[in-house]
Amino acid sequence: MGGQTPFQTKPTTDYPTRAPKPVGQLISGIYKERIGQFYDGGQWEHNNLRAMMNEGIAMGHPHVKLWVWDAPDQSRPTFDDAVSHEFKETSVFSWFGPAWTTHWFKVVLTVPEGLRDKRLLELHWDANNEGMIWTDDGKPLQGLTGGGERIEWILPESFRDGKEHTIYVEMACNGMFGNAPGGDSIQPPDPNKYFQLSKAEIVAVNPDARQLWIDTWIIGDAAKEFPQDSWEQHKALKIVNRIIETFELGNKDSLKACRKIAEEYLGTNVNSAKVYDSGKEALVIGIGNCHIDSCWLWPFAETKRKVARSWSNQCDLMERYPELNFACSQAQQYKWLKELYPYVFERVKKKVAEGRFQPIGGSWVEHDTNLPGGESLIRQFLYGQRFYESNFGKRCQTFWLPDTFGYSSQLPQLCRLSGMSRFLTQKLSWNNINKFPHTTFNWVALDGSQVICHMPPAETYTSDAHFGDVKRSMSQHKSLDQDHTSLLLFGKGDGGGGPTWQHLEKLRRCRGISDNVGLLPRVHLGNSVDDFFDRLELKANSFVTWYGELYFELHRGTYTTQANNKRNNRKSEVVLRDLELLATFASIRDKSYKYPKKEFDDMWESVLLCQFHDCLPGSSIEMCYDDSNKIYAEVFQTAESVLKGIFKTLGVAEVKSTTVAGGVALNTLPWHRKGLVDISENEAAVACGTGPLLNLRTFKTSAESPGASVRKASNGVYVLENSQLKVEVEAGCITSLYDKKSDREIIPKGQKANQYVIFDDKPLYWQAWDVEVYHLDTRKELSSSETKVHEEKNHRVSVVTETKISDKSYIETIISLTASVSGEQSYVEVTSKVVWHETMKFLKIEFPVNVRSTEANYETQFGIVKRPTHYNTSWDMAKFEVCCHRFADLSEHGYGVSILNDSKYGFATVGSTMRLSLLRSPKAPDANADMGTHHIRWAILPHQGSLGPTTVRKAFEFNNPLKLLSSAPGSGRSTVVIDDVPPVQLTSDSDKALVLDTIKRGEDDADVSRGELPKKDGRSVILRIYDSLGGRARGTIATTWDVKKVSKANVLEDEIEELPFKDGKFDVDLNPFEVATYKLQLAWGNVKL
Ligand SMILES: [Zn+2]
Repeated sequence: MGGQTPFQTKPTTDYPTRAPKPVGQLISGIYKERIGQFYDGGQWEHNNLRAMMNEGIAMGHPHVKLWVWDAPDQSRPTFDDAVSHEFKETSVFSWFGPAWTTHWFKVVLTVPEGLRDKRLLELHWDANNEGMIWTDDGKPLQGLTGGGERIEWILPESFRDGKEHTIYVEMACNGMFGNAPGGDSIQPPDPNKYFQLSKAEIVAVNPDARQLWIDTWIIGDAAKEFPQDSWEQHKALKIVNRIIETFELGNKDSLKACRKIAEEYLGTNVNSAKVYDSGKEALVIGIGNCHIDSCWLWPFAETKRKVARSWSNQCDLMERYPELNFACSQAQQYKWLKELYPYVFERVKKKVAEGRFQPIGGSWVEHDTNLPGGESLIRQFLYGQRFYESNFGKRCQTFWLPDTFGYSSQLPQLCRLSGMSRFLTQKLSWNNINKFPHTTFNWVALDGSQVICHMPPAETYTSDAHFGDVKRSMSQHKSLDQDHTSLLLFGKGDGGGGPTWQHLEKLRRCRGISDNVGLLPRVHLGNSVDDFFDRLELKANSFVTWYGELYFELHRGTYTTQANNKRNNRKSEVVLRDLELLATFASIRDKSYKYPKKEFDDMWESVLLCQFHDCLPGSSIEMCYDDSNKIYAEVFQTAESVLKGIFKTLGVAEVKSTTVAGGVALNTLPWHRKGLVDISENEAAVACGTGPLLNLRTFKTSAESPGASVRKASNGVYVLENSQLKVEVEAGCITSLYDKKSDREIIPKGQKANQYVIFDDKPLYWQAWDVEVYHLDTRKELSSSETKVHEEKNHRVSVVTETKISDKSYIETIISLTASVSGEQSYVEVTSKVVWHETMKFLKIEFPVNVRSTEANYETQFGIVKRPTHYNTSWDMAKFEVCCHRFADLSEHGYGVSILNDSKYGFATVGSTMRLSLLRSPKAPDANADMGTHHIRWAILPHQGSLGPTTVRKAFEFNNPLKLLSSAPGSGRSTVVIDDVPPVQLTSDSDKALVLDTIKRGEDDADVSRGELPKKDGRSVILRIYDSLGGRARGTIATTWDVKKVSKANVLEDEIEELPFKDGKFDVDLNPFEVATYKLQLAWGNVKL
């Protein structure tokens, strides 16, 4: 009987012979659209699931009694202060305000008898603004968001006794995104905004209805978002429609029946964290977070409260959701919490110890990375990691910066030097020209250091944990050829308080679908970001690489907006460098001088805070800049008093004028310096040497042979000249710049350098952030009045020109040429005063030069970035406005021109035209951004050879002019101590690309430490040296200190390897663009004076 199918018993069915009725195919679109109607508000809400959400509500007297105290002005008083005042009775539907005010409510709750045995009792409080619930003895418990979001607080069991219970609610008159009028949150805040308390009631919630809501929401999303050609989609649609049909308004049993149907799709475990225990491989790791901008559409003071509110929520939610882990960055925010909310900080600390609350990021704040200087980036990590280590016993492994406006090419190196090998970010997905091609990759710094970078494919760092976010974690993953895992960051940001119970319930159901039905990538909760990267690291060797800067193709206006803030940043970085160096010298020289560590910490923490990614870039509201102005003013004030102390120890004082014999020049730069210093109104002296205090020599000039001259040539053309350069100026523009040494004209024939140009500046939306490519098409040259001689001294000449911008705005420009000193490259210096009252205009200054190259050089932190000068591809064109630090440079073989600046960061080089960005005038979110008077300096530095140490050093010097000092009368010292040999220096035969940038004392030295981490015996000095030009650079450090031991260290000052040290010297050998830190351990008690 081979070949025949054996007879099988068929299942019996009652399949009728004749069709009993017509059955149609589900009309998918209509059945999908119907789903929302089942639980949405509006016209259906009294007849759908919503109508069964609550089993009872108690409001008004005697159940909810309200009193209020209005805090004066915009004060944010403490609990103790608030409750000491007299409260007056108030009621629901009253209005509170205006914007930024605070109102404290005393809320007395009595649960009515009818609600006492209900399963879940909550207080629902909604005033459409942020709030905090406090116990009557002053413990902050939980934040409230308002506007229907996070309005619930679960009543404690003890409240079910029928007695009165008092809590307090602290109301802040701002929403999550501040106080913008109407619906456009980046518009300047409305100072007259008021808020109505629309809800204050005790609600008995029906947990079945609530759970069914989430069931249908997620299955409904599966029905809508799974592909139409999948059975999983059709099944979801069927099930959700069966649920809708099974529901009976008012019938509690029908809720249970509906949930039973939902189980067919979700499985039976979604009511608890057990759903995550299936043991199946998860591809999407969900981590809660709450991205709180340290300032933005609200001031720093409000952030301090947002932190307390949001983090309290998370501690509370963790009690009910054991799978919830929460990653949280910004050491500064932890510090605020520790100081202002010790109760919440202890709660957080406990959760950190349990591994649930996960400090991350390793930096002081989530800072901008385009604009801060190199040492600032290091201090972000040093201060961040030290805070985490001293408070939680652990450093971070992952640099966490989801929201920043571009990524400096040296970050991977600095991360590795700070103990971090992983980097998480997201903002690059906002590129509006080219799509970034990777999700997971190795990001490589200028020096070759790498970190594993992951950009969550859901393309948000504050997702609402929607079905679609889980789905996109796979469908938008761009590195599936290498790895298919991803992170899903969920939780409301900026005062929304992080993950909500809805997020957690939704994710349980998503996991249920993955395990029970499939198709959706399997999400897992309960891990950490570190776990995720640990697994990636195992295969990271094969990941694709991205070398150099991650240029962000958006928000290019942030290199320029809020000019004053950027200038303060540059100035404070210069001041801090100088002070640390001098205080180090002073503290080693004189044991009685106390290294002012507290002052340094205060100043650094302030500067680091203002580098927050909405502060320094200029994208915050006006209030934030009022604050940062005050913060910087304090920094400069502290700096001045520290400097006075140092000068006292050194026996010098700052003066305006003195004699050659009675003066010295303060030099804090680490190379042989030679330059002119004004010693009186009309005289200059030559300062020359290598130490911190340089002797002065007479500068020999006469009226017959001046060091610099100015003459009127013809028709308003002035010629400024020294022994190296000849400059022709006409109506404020430089029509000729002739380099005598090279016999070379720098300005192309018929063109004008130092030409002001103005552009219309209306980006697509983000005003303070963006300048769009089309602004280039609106270029207009500004014309100037006649130039006049401004200064005519033997050592310096200058001409002045006024340029009208509009009826309200003008510029006064001084172009000056100083006598050249032999061996030093001369440059043309420009000082401008801009009175700026424009609207949506962008002011720049142009320098066409006789140099041709397809790439321009821009200084970045500890290095140079090369960027195209052409628009070959869309990637090249996208870089139509880029970030530079102290200089930008265009060089061809044998020659180049550098443009130096003292406070600017925006630049563009198009063909042979170099263009420095000066001022913008966006009107949102700060309606007055950059209005007022600005002082800006720049310089045109021609140089022989291509980009080299001349530019690097002159740019440093331009930002750090020599300071005139004299003996301090009454200092107790009869003569100035001249340090002709600095106590530590790179020897003169060292590679000139090496920069000895930072000199500071060891953080934990016994005489320096403030005790955060264990003190270390003895005194040490930290040196930071980098290769500035991108080649292997070798040199020798020589010191006069009594050094016991020299080690190479990381930036956290951990010693890595001891180096040979002999005869007061040790060798440095750096790779291209390497940043190296050395620790010099000094002999204790044997101080060389
Ligand atoms: Zn942000």
